[in-house]
Amino acid sequence: MFDKILIANRGEIALRIQRACRELGIKTVVVFSTADKEAKYVKLADEAVCIGPAPSPLSYLNMPAIISAAEVTDAEAIHPGYGFLSENADFAERVEKSGFAFIGPTAASIRLMGDKVSAKRAMIKAGVPCVPGSEGALTANPKEIIATAKSVGYPVIIKAAGGGGGRGMRVVHTEAALLNAVNMTKEEAGRAFGNPEVYMEKFLEKPRHVEIQILADTHGNAIWLGERDCSMQRRHQKVIEEAPAPGIDRRLIAKIGERCAEACRKIGYRGAGTFEFLYEDGEFFFIEMNTRVQVEHPVTEMITGVDIVQEQIRIAAGLKLSYRQKDIVFRGHAIECRLNAEDPFKFTPSPGKIGSFHMPGGPGIRVDSHAYSGYVVPSHYDSMIGKLISYGNTREQAIRRMQIALSEMVIDGITTNVPLHRELMLDPNFIEGGTSIHYLEHRLEEQAASRGKP
Ligand code: ADP
Repeated sequence: MFDKILIANRGEIALRIQRACRELGIKTVVVFSTADKEAKYVKLADEAVCIGPAPSPLSYLNMPAIISAAEVTDAEAIHPGYGFLSENADFAERVEKSGFAFIGPTAASIRLMGDKVSAKRAMIKAGVPCVPGSEGALTANPKEIIATAKSVGYPVIIKAAGGGGGRGMRVVHTEAALLNAVNMTKEEAGRAFGNPEVYMEKFLEKPRHVEIQILADTHGNAIWLGERDCSMQRRHQKVIEEAPAPGIDRRLIAKIGERCAEACRKIGYRGAGTFEFLYEDGEFFFIEMNTRVQVEHPVTEMITGVDIVQEQIRIAAGLKLSYRQKDIVFRGHAIECRLNAEDPFKFTPSPGKIGSFHMPGGPGIRVDSHAYSGYVVPSHYDSMIGKLISYGNTREQAIRRMQIALSEMVIDGITTNVPLHRELMLDPNFIEGGTSIHYLEHRLEEQAASRGKP
């Protein structure tokens, strides 16, 4: 096992990784930008190294600065967290070339999955069901593009091979609009991702977002840890996640989970990963794989008892997974609310100094947050200040506990999205379960429209 790990991230995930290291008896080095120098988790680390000024290109995305921090502190491995450099294959490669272990998959796996066309091809080969669409990237031949759309059936969605973060996609409803949409998406993709390749998929009208968590070691073992329903989204940003996904046949989940684990064995994947699917009318359709730990990993931890971050570290150290598939037992239900420093209904960011800060507790409540009273939320990074997670024997109990926890929670001084979560936990459609990925946006639009009325 490693003696010392460098955490190349910030905020709640930097603290989460630090906690995992502590439990494993591993010393931690935290790197920070000048905007984060006062943060408590920075002070809690065994060592802390300033890697640059607030803008992330100069700090959290600054590869040479991070690698030299690992060199001067004599760390053995680097954990990239999520976001920033976590899915950057060049970074993974540079980390390993510099003699450190990268706590994540190989650069080759990150590259394979980072290009959505190659990812989809690999998944089809491994028997993972995908959204029907073009075979690989679209050619430049207009006749072929029109024929592909006809055989897929409208509406279709044109997606950039190099896309991410919900960008580089365009929905097309008619043949008249098709070629123009393809060209515009290509042009945008070239500019935004340096790769003009696009592909086509059937546009699913009312899907749910259901994803499978996997873990794979370097000894050929791969397991799946159930699913998460992350359908409550705004602009492709997840707001609430839960596990298990309500109302889906367990045998179907097991079948898909097994396929994902098998795909990991086939491509020689290592580390934690998530297969994202759209789920509609009883069917799963793969859309992409995330090759890192995810924000919503705690709901899986709550219902399985597996510490995903500790397993990531063990895998990077070359150890075998601590669990076999048959050891994984799903118990109860967990829900996560992302806490953001933003207006709850207009979503404008609200950085600044937190006044009173009172976190809830009691049975089945977990808070993953680096914030505290007096903490200043910097304006330079995303607005998430933590996550509130509830667990119950049943979904009803998890919702009830979340309602109580949200009613106890106090965060003053800045505006947060807690009022939105309070409303959603009382929303009959959420309580019933199984809402589509468009539900939250429709609800917000209706609310805004009714507020506009006299
Ligand atoms: P990104 O890497 O940008 O997140 P994804 O491929 O994961 O891109 O797609 C992001 C979101 O776009 C999905 O969660 C879903 O809301 C929507 N989407 C993508 N593909 C489709 C599709 N074929 N049909 C309907 N919605 C889609």
